Amino acid sequence: MAAESLLRQEGAPIRVLLLEPNDVGGVVGTVHRDGWLVEQSADNFLAARPEGLGLVNRLGLADELIPVNEPARRALVYSAGRTLPVPAGFRLMAPALAKGILESDILSPAGKARLLDEANVAPAIGGGDESLESFAVRRLGREAFDRLVQPLVAGIWTADPARLSMTAACPEFLDMERVHGSLIRGEEDRLRRLGDSHQGIGARYGQFVTLASGMGTLPARLMEWLTAAGMERRRMRAESIERLADGRWQVVASERGLPATLIAADGVVVAVPAPAAAGVLRGVDETLAADLAGIEYAGSVVVVVGFSRDDVAHPLDAAGLVVPRIEGRGILAVSFSSSKFPGRAPEGCVLLRVFVGGALDPARALLDDEKIVALVEAELSDMLGVRGKPRLVQIARWPSAMPQYHLGHCQRLSRITERLNALPGLGLAGAAYEGVGIPQVIASGQAAAQRVGAAVQGMNRRTDWRVIKRSGG
Ligand SMILES: Cc1cc2nc3c(=O)[nH]c(=O)nc-3n(C[C@H](O)[C@H](O)[C@H](O)COP(=O)(O)OP(=O)(O)OC[C@H]3O[C@@H](n4cnc5c(N)ncnc54)[C@H](O)[C@@H]3O)c2cc1C
Repeated sequence: MAAESLLRQEGAPIRVLLLEPNDVGGVVGTVHRDGWLVEQSADNFLAARPEGLGLVNRLGLADELIPVNEPARRALVYSAGRTLPVPAGFRLMAPALAKGILESDILSPAGKARLLDEANVAPAIGGGDESLESFAVRRLGREAFDRLVQPLVAGIWTADPARLSMTAACPEFLDMERVHGSLIRGEEDRLRRLGDSHQGIGARYGQFVTLASGMGTLPARLMEWLTAAGMERRRMRAESIERLADGRWQVVASERGLPATLIAADGVVVAVPAPAAAGVLRGVDETLAADLAGIEYAGSVVVVVGFSRDDVAHPLDAAGLVVPRIEGRGILAVSFSSSKFPGRAPEGCVLLRVFVGGALDPARALLDDEKIVALVEAELSDMLGVRGKPRLVQIARWPSAMPQYHLGHCQRLSRITERLNALPGLGLAGAAYEGVGIPQVIASGQAAAQRVGAAVQGMNRRTDWRVIKRSGG
């Protein structure tokens, strides 16, 4: 499809203006340095959902897609001084293979017995939203939660599982309990329906893909396409939005050192983190803004270190290592970037991405660069037998980048949707609402664009914008 047809509505061109004060891509970005390829945040995405692959194909990037290397299609868990594979068939909190659990050294005999008794645990009756910790402990036992579920969850949401809402974060597993009465039976049924190709140990990791040149290529290429299709971009920050008497919208935007600019638009998509959305929408709807402001965020730091292969004793034969909180260590997880994907490190070297902080360890994310690198070096030396100094160090700090779907998140979303329904031409998009993964975030952007486009069309308008004036100018 040609780029020009991307921004069309019923055949007529849609004029779009992007206000973005920083480099496009938000948290997603790739740094290329001396033969190293460093991802600043996301380093892959799930291909099982259509939106990520769909966008990649639409942008002509399909040739760049690469899956996780076959030997790296498993995760390790740090367990009392050892790095042990997640039991075969265990997916986040759903065990499919008794054999895998029985053969694993991560759990004690009592912990294994309790986990395998999951099929006999009665489903919860009624009740409201349940935390992920409560659900997993109830179904799988405390030990399986502490040693498997907690570290795997922390690796995805950097969250406090005692506050994370099952309904919002993991509805699939709630459904398994509801439909099959058990996660074991639910996962077995899911695998049966998917067929043989999904039964292997590495099947889940085979569903993750990245771009050969790095994830940063995705927003960069998208920007090229949209620009070719006529989108304009200004390096401006949206300060506030107002609804005009005729139903149109007015955005007050600022640019460093310049007077504020007033922009009138038929529709607006607010695709910023929830606290920023709350700030710009306060004048439109106080209640909506209060609900947006109530979505909490957690921070983390990604410390990327490169070593000579000879300086790392561990075989790095996995996608990465997660560290249970009960181990009392200083890091959350390590992604073995150069094991996962080709072209991440120069010949003879390895690249590791170490995650520090998260909702349960916020203070450590505030350590200064020197201290955080020293912590990472000490932990890698202990856990992976890393010797010597890193040949590359790159630190990406994300003070509050990960929205937390706390208990009550779905009710909050319902209230937000209700308020939005009274505001035609306004859309919200981003990780704060219905999924933090890249495909879900793409889906939210597409849904918001459609919603705004349909509302504007319903008012017999063309989706358009114009600068009204620079105040004080
Ligand atoms: C460390 C880390 C690792 C991750 N790893 C993965 C992974 O491997 N796979 C995966 O699928 N997902 C991953 N994610 C999640 C995923 O990357 C994010 O959820 C997603 O990229 C967020 O996109 P977003 O557009 O909602 O928000 P952001 O990326 O935060 O973008 C928000 C944008 O809004 C702009 N903005 C803010 N305020 C204003 C304003 N007032 N006016 C105008 N613009 C404004 C900002 O400049 C920014 O560009 C990871 C996230 C993090 C933090």
